[in-house]
Amino acid sequence: MTSQTTVKTLLILGASGDLTGRLLLPGLARLAAAGRAAGLRLVGAGSDPWPQEQWRERVHTAFADAAGKADAAGRQALETLEQYSAYHQLDVTADGPLASLLSELEGPVAVYFALPPQVSQKACEILQPGQVPAGTRLVMEKPFGSGEVSARELNRTLLGLVPEDHIHRVDHFLGKATVLNILGLRFANNFLEPVWNRQHIEKVEIIFDEDLALEGRARYYDSAGALRDMIQSHLLQIMALMAIDPPATIGERDLRDAVATVLRASSIKPPYEAAARRARYTAGSIGGRPVPNYADEEGVDAALNTETFAEVRVEIDNWRWNGVPFILRSGKALGKKRKEAVVTFRPVPHLPKGFRGRDVPNQLRIGFGPDTLELDVDVNGPGDIFTLDRASLVAELSASDLLPYGEVLEGVLTGDPLLSVRGDTAEECWRIVEPVLQAWAGDAVPLEEYDAGSTGP
Ligand code: NDP
Repeated sequence: MTSQTTVKTLLILGASGDLTGRLLLPGLARLAAAGRAAGLRLVGAGSDPWPQEQWRERVHTAFADAAGKADAAGRQALETLEQYSAYHQLDVTADGPLASLLSELEGPVAVYFALPPQVSQKACEILQPGQVPAGTRLVMEKPFGSGEVSARELNRTLLGLVPEDHIHRVDHFLGKATVLNILGLRFANNFLEPVWNRQHIEKVEIIFDEDLALEGRARYYDSAGALRDMIQSHLLQIMALMAIDPPATIGERDLRDAVATVLRASSIKPPYEAAARRARYTAGSIGGRPVPNYADEEGVDAALNTETFAEVRVEIDNWRWNGVPFILRSGKALGKKRKEAVVTFRPVPHLPKGFRGRDVPNQLRIGFGPDTLELDVDVNGPGDIFTLDRASLVAELSASDLLPYGEVLEGVLTGDPLLSVRGDTAEECWRIVEPVLQAWAGDAVPLEEYDAGSTGP
């Protein structure tokens, strides 16, 4: 399938950066190799004086994996993209250079801010509305601001430049396939929606346990921590999709309205010692690989008390969910990778006397990347038919042939903000976690410890 994109030029600011090399360019390559970026021009920019060959070499290396898997047409598409790609040296925080580059490029242009967040913010502040050609799309990475107030200010700055539906706040975590898998499961099955509420659901857990440790990312992570890095920016979005009311359509307006409505009703309530946990890993080993104490990792300032594990209990104060805890948890350097949402149903009101064996609540588990579905039900076990046993109904859900950043870029290039976090939602996510961040900063919640490779604190 070959498809023309709405955007004519993709300008990546931060050409030499880690995100660009490791995630963005490989994501773009898979998209282009599938014929879904026809006619696109790729432009990189950075503060270093790179010769054109150095940039093309970087693009070539990042495209290699996709090229190796592509058919002849896909390889041709990648070669064309690479060949016509250009590099510009630019200080994005200086007044003038970015504006003048924008005026030279064929529009519409998508400007991807693959820069440190403060640099992105400054670059946007220095741009004047008249310097941004009509149709320009601005693509902002996480973290979006550093709190509710700063997110609101950044929104104001961006909205002075382009309309909301031309701002893409990236959440690469929720690929399109995952979003649609959750929505399809919830809203295309008549047996689920009638029980998807406080009468029948006891709790919902959204868990993202990583077996990776810091991996040299202290510069970013040590000032962020698990609550900001994972829960604020990603897990609250999954929670919202699990909790929304059925939208009339899966268009961006209806879906993002529904997400915003749920998040506005959500909060973490005091006392924060009970509603939140934080912990930091100490030395251990994962799969035989030794992992040093987090506080001793290079670039870490132990006095910052940065948490590598965070858990919060979010409450959604509306008719459907009042009293049902949504537990959101994420940790680094854990023994087992686990990425799933687990819905635990209430026990049956009465189990007929005479049955023996297990009587545990039903659980529905939605696994992310690869997307899977598992429903635990009690059935009459083999042998004695009076004895209940547990059976799991397992299914694999549809997967995308694109990488997560390919899905993000496809939304940007075709002008579809469905997967982008809307401005009001970005502010809400900060509003939800900020009281916990403040309680932690005031040491109201102890910082626990866990060994790397363990199951957590
Ligand atoms: P890096 O520090 O690796 O790269 C930052 C880039 O910004 C460099 O290319 C640097 O170029 C450039 N830069 C800095 N200042 C200027 C300036 N004044 N003018 C022009 N270019 C400048 O950061 P990452 O790639 O890791 O992260 C970028 C963004 O993506 C961040 O917001 C991060 O949170 C987000 N992100 C990153 C992920 C990752 O895995 N890396 C994952 C998810 C999000 P130079 O060195 O030449 O100055």
